[in-house]
Amino acid sequence: KELIQLKNVEKIYQTENGSVHALNDVSLEINEGEIFGIIGYSGAGKSTLIRLINLLEKPTSGTISIGDRQLTDLSDRQLREERRTIGMIFQHFNLLWSRTVAENIAFPLELTKIKKKQKEKRIADLIRMVGLEGKESAYPSQLSGGQKQRVGIARALANNPRVLLCDEATSALDPKTTDSILSLLLEINKSLGLTIVLITHEMSVIQKICSKVAVLDKGKIVEEGAVNDVFAHP
Ligand code: ADP
Ligand code: ADP
Repeated sequence: KELIQLKNVEKIYQTENGSVHALNDVSLEINEGEIFGIIGYSGAGKSTLIRLINLLEKPTSGTISIGDRQLTDLSDRQLREERRTIGMIFQHFNLLWSRTVAENIAFPLELTKIKKKQKEKRIADLIRMVGLEGKESAYPSQLSGGQKQRVGIARALANNPRVLLCDEATSALDPKTTDSILSLLLEINKSLGLTIVLITHEMSVIQKICSKVAVLDKGKIVEEGAVNDVFAHP
């Protein structure tokens, strides 16, 4: 079943030096429960694409829908609500440095009406899910890169999102840590049935966990399909 759909999406940025066509007629369908990879060189439009799906930006033209909601029709308040159903992790983790692991993970829950008891249970469950037992009171500066990304993942999952967006989430990590984070994402995808969309410039990341891939080049999708098909031919 289809979860995310982009139809003929264009994104044009106006700059002092003229306009930049960041995305050009991009159409995509991402199914529920899938791990969908978007790969491309620097400047291809990957971050723009993920910011559009995360509702941080609006397309210049075209439509984006998640589930049965067409995002381009929503009011700002509805967009904020919708954003809570989307989790995101980042290359540089974007943790709050003056807060503990537990407080970072609790952060998205502060905006909801969840009761204290429930909140504590939710945080304990999330800590266990990402394998950070015993680190609840540590500060981000006391953690390894892999552990920091585990906090990022737990925070992103706090509100039970329908989709997890990963923006170069392993690009700052060494190969062994990258593997452990990718394994965790795969495990979460399997156990929760969570849809994951990841952008990367590394083929190996796509090959390790994605079922489908779209290749983005100069704002256009130049190839798309099952990972084995797209990367099979010479
Ligand atoms: P990628 O993530 O694949 O590196 P981006 O989406 O960041 O690609 O960028 C695609 C193109 O859009 C680039 O030419 C970039 O310079 C341009 N671009 C991205 N964001 C902006 C912005 N806020 N204002 C102007 N140009 C932008
Ligand atoms: P605001 O909605 O207040 O403008 P920002 O977009 O500035 O929030 O993000 C505030 C912090 O939350 C940043 O550190 C950013 O990394 C993080 N963040 C942004 N979007 C998400 C998301 N979808 N999931 C988790 N954290 C996010």
